[in-house]
Order: sequence, then C-alpha cells, then structure tokens
Amino acid sequence: MSVLIAGAGIGGLTTALMLHAHGIKATVVEQAAEVREVGVGINTLPHSIAELAELGLLARLDEVGLRTRELRYLTRNGQEIWREPRGLHAGHEYPQFSIHRGRLLKVLFDAVVERMGREAVLTGLRLSGFIQDDAGVTAHFVDTADGLGSRTMRGEVLICADGIHSVGRRRFYPDEGVPSWAGVVMWRGAAEWPVWEDGETMAIAGGLGAKLVIYPIAPARDGRQLMNWVVNVRVADASVSPPPPESWSKQASLAKVLPYARRFHVPGMDLEALVRASGPIFEYPMADRDPLPRWTHGRVTLLGDAAHPMYPVGSNGAAQAILDARCLADEMAAAEHPREALYRYEQDRLPKTAEVVRTNRLGGPERVIDEVEKLSPRRFENVDDVLGYEARKAIVKGYAKMAGFATKEDA
Ligand SMILES: Cc1cc2nc3c(=O)[nH]c(=O)nc-3n(C[C@H](O)[C@H](O)[C@H](O)COP(=O)(O)OP(=O)(O)OC[C@H]3O[C@@H](n4cnc5c(N)ncnc54)[C@H](O)[C@@H]3O)c2cc1C
Repeated sequence: MSVLIAGAGIGGLTTALMLHAHGIKATVVEQAAEVREVGVGINTLPHSIAELAELGLLARLDEVGLRTRELRYLTRNGQEIWREPRGLHAGHEYPQFSIHRGRLLKVLFDAVVERMGREAVLTGLRLSGFIQDDAGVTAHFVDTADGLGSRTMRGEVLICADGIHSVGRRRFYPDEGVPSWAGVVMWRGAAEWPVWEDGETMAIAGGLGAKLVIYPIAPARDGRQLMNWVVNVRVADASVSPPPPESWSKQASLAKVLPYARRFHVPGMDLEALVRASGPIFEYPMADRDPLPRWTHGRVTLLGDAAHPMYPVGSNGAAQAILDARCLADEMAAAEHPREALYRYEQDRLPKTAEVVRTNRLGGPERVIDEVEKLSPRRFENVDDVLGYEARKAIVKGYAKMAGFATKEDA
C-alpha cells in the first residue's frame, strides 16, 4: 500500500508516522518551501498525547513543551469563575502539553525524517487536483517556487491534510465558498517572561466576543519562560467575508493590538508589558466551516482542519487531527481494501468532530465565562451567587466528555 498525504501540518505528519508504524508507505507533499517552525502556542490534550506517546515521542515533547498543571477561567476583569487541574494532575494517564506549534511540528518532522527518510517529505509542491481510478489516485502538484513547473504522483490513497483552505475539500464541495467568520480576529504572540504563578498554569479571561488567553509554552529557566498570549476581539460584523487566505497569518503592529490587550486584567500579570515584549505578533481570523456530510470519496479523504476546521476553543484543533490520524492509520492496517478503510475512518470520526465544531461555535467549555459575564456584567462578590457550581461544572465537564477527554471522575 502506498499513501499520498497533501500537507505537512500536525495532521499530515502524524498520519505519516502512524502509517509507517503499521508498515504502510507514505509520502507527504507540502506546499511551503520547507517545513518551518511557524505559529505560536498550541495545547494538546491527554487523549492526543497518548497517541504521540505510542509513537515514542513523549521524551521529545518534554524537551520542548510544558506539561500543563492547571486551567483557570476568569472574567475579562480578572475575577475567577473556574479552576481545574489538567493532564496528569487531573488523573489522566498522559499529560496535557502547552507547546510552541513550530516546535511540535519539528518534533514530528524530525521523527518522519529519521524513520522514513528525508525523501518521505517533498516540499514546494501544492496539490492542485487529482483523478482516481480502480487501482489508485493520480495527484497533480504545482511547483510553488515558480508556479510553472508541475509534478504528477500516484498513490493507492490520497489524504488531504491541507488545512482550512483545502484543495481536496474544494474539489468535492466546489460551492462551499469561504470559511465562516463571526468577525473575531485573534492576535497571537510570545515573549520570554518572568514565571507567572507556578509556571505551569494557563488562564482564559473573557468569553467569545472578547477573550485573552495566556499560557507558558516552555520549561522555566532562571526564573523566565516563553509565555504565549492570544487576544481575541470581535472587530467586524458577522456578515463580512473573512480576509483572503494569503493574509491569514500576517503580522500585526503593536499599535493595533495594544488598545485591545488593555481591556483585560489577569491578577499578577502585566499584560501590556507582555505584549510589548513579544516578538512578531500574528493576526488570524477566527474561522471554521460547517460540518460536511462526507469526507471520503472512493480513495480520497480529508483529515484535520481540511475535514473539520473549528474555533480554537477547548484546545482541540491539533488534538482532533491527531485522533483522526490514529483512526485512519488503524483502519488502513486492518481493512482488506483502502476504500473500506477510508469509509470506516469517516464513519467513526466525522460525527465526533462535527459535534466538537458545533459546540465550539457556542464557546466550548469557555461558554461558562460567557454565561457568568452575561448574568453579571460588572464585578460580583461570589461567583456561586451568579451561576452555581453544578451549572458551571456541567458546561466545563460536559465539553470534556463530548470531546473525548473526560477523566473517569468527570464521566
Ligand atoms: C501557519 C500556521 C500557523 C498556525 N499557528 C497556530 C497557532 O499558533 N496556534 C494554534 O493553536 N493553531 C495554529 N495553527 C492551526 C493548527 O496547527 C491546526 O488547527 C491543527 O494543528 C490541525 O492541523 P492540520 O495539519 O489539519 O492543518 P494545518 O496546521 O493547517 O496544516 C496544513 C498544512 O497543509 C499545507 N497545505 C495547504 N494547502 C496545501 C496544498 N494544496 N498542497 C500541499 N500542502 C498544502 C499547509 O502549508 C500546512 O502545512 C496554525 C496553522 C498554520 C497553517
């Protein structure tokens, strides 16, 4: 069996490693000139870390990432609504990692090259189309260096792990149009910063319309560590189209972000100074797409953000891509025919991820912040008087159960 994978993101590279572990040959084809360490912070939940641990990557993750100990939800003016232990501290068998996306990508890329050879990842080639027949798929790629050259490759299966602007998805759903965008922009950055709290805690202040997220993404050294931050603010009407794909991770100026960052307060953290101390600030629209009726069409399927782009709440984007990879690789190893494997993969993963997409639109577990801010727009004396413990727990733990990472205690 030989498998073509379009896209060397977290989804595509993990799929390649898992197929290789089953003895299935895979080639990853990436549009970028190199697999670069781009992005800022990302959280990967225990159920997806279990899969990376099975690939033998836990020690490497520990070298570059941070095991998250605690999560706090706050109002945008810093009043506490909820706190809970995470990962091993919550009773999971595996940790939750807060990690720089680029470093996670590098761990995966290095493992692919070591185990499968450098030739397993081809770069500078963008999937432009494909045709399938009874024996396999012929995929066409455009050389992104000059836009003139092209390459044709053949595989028994094609997996489109090519992100939210997926070419594979557009081939099957040409009328789908642009991603849906509720007008919320996310600015992300990171700075070397004095350790905040225990150095292993993440905090989310504010609900869907205006939110701040902070978490450290590397182990502390000499009292400092890399601190990631995200500011989400609704800046446009939901009827406005999202920016075009080429400007999705553009850099933003400090002057643009500071007035928004100043709206938030987190006890013990000088947010303005953190934002000022950051390296490049990246701007992304917070967008997703409606769940699809099908991902698999014969010998071609979608995976990760190509299949189910979701709002980045509840720390699920990368985790769900990793769970897709596990399911797909296992089905490929077990099935008698590739079509059967792709069909079974879709049957398992599509309904589960559709539920996450829908729940994230309502704020995911962070909806608990929206609910409290709605009931008490100003400061409160005691959060229990605004929304009782059981009601808050139902939102937060209900999400963990739905997204597949509840502990035995939560379930
Ligand atoms: C540049 C970038 C930065 C990001 N930064 C963050 C971040 O800071 N924090 C966070 O939480 N999430 C971030 N994300 C999103 C997060 O990585 C994904 O939601 C999640 O990991 C799912 O990954 P995926 O592999 O399905 O898709 P992606 O991560 O989107 O990966 C898709 C890959 O496919 C490639 N590709 C696209 N089209 C084609 C094509 N036609 N042919 C070949 N290759 C193609 C892309 O270049 C990319 O490498 C980022 C994504 C990108 C692309």
